[in-house]
Amino acid sequence: MRVLVVEDDSLLAQGLIRVLARAGHAVDQVETGIQADKALRTASYGLVVLDIGLPDIDGFEVLRRLRLRHSATNVLVLTARDAVEDGVYGLDLGADDYLTKPFSVTEFEARVRALLRRTSLPAGAVSVGRLTVDVEAKSVRCNGVTIDLTVREWALLELFMARPGRVLSKEQIAQQLSDYDAQLSPNAIEVYVSRLRSKIEAAGVRIRTVRGFGYLWETTDEVP
Ligand code: CA
Repeated sequence: MRVLVVEDDSLLAQGLIRVLARAGHAVDQVETGIQADKALRTASYGLVVLDIGLPDIDGFEVLRRLRLRHSATNVLVLTARDAVEDGVYGLDLGADDYLTKPFSVTEFEARVRALLRRTSLPAGAVSVGRLTVDVEAKSVRCNGVTIDLTVREWALLELFMARPGRVLSKEQIAQQLSDYDAQLSPNAIEVYVSRLRSKIEAAGVRIRTVRGFGYLWETTDEVP
């Protein structure tokens, strides 16, 4: 995932970049609102970490312009310690979450993971094959019959649904499910995938193994 860090405090910025890079993200950094606005117009980012207090136009204005362009980029706003209401105002302007300074590395990592996990998940109930999936209500049905999924199977299903038509590697899956297990082995991933696969294949949804690469989620026309 490509991430833009907008922060004029260079010490804090370097810390955030280190954490994001360690999580496998490609990170760009800018220090002013004008630079941020320009970067967001020219490149596509999966996440923007946006400080509010910036030298020229503030983070609110950057955010307002971003949402005016109907960009769906995830935005995590950083607010000053004595300005709690700024976070709420950020949410009103279309931020996805906010953190008040100072915050811990662990807290920052958890917020970023949570934001990226929900990336591009559809709102409301959607149909995939003969499955009806409602992510908000945590309900999945096939022809009206509820299918019970464990927490990890749900996380896996959401992961596949957010990336239709793309192969997911075991490493990507392990990284995304790391909230639920500190260290998921490749064997454990295989087990979760095969359990989810057996629960949904009757609904015309297949998780195909792409040897050497990972897994591909696709719908089939086969009627069991
Ligand atoms: Ca600042």
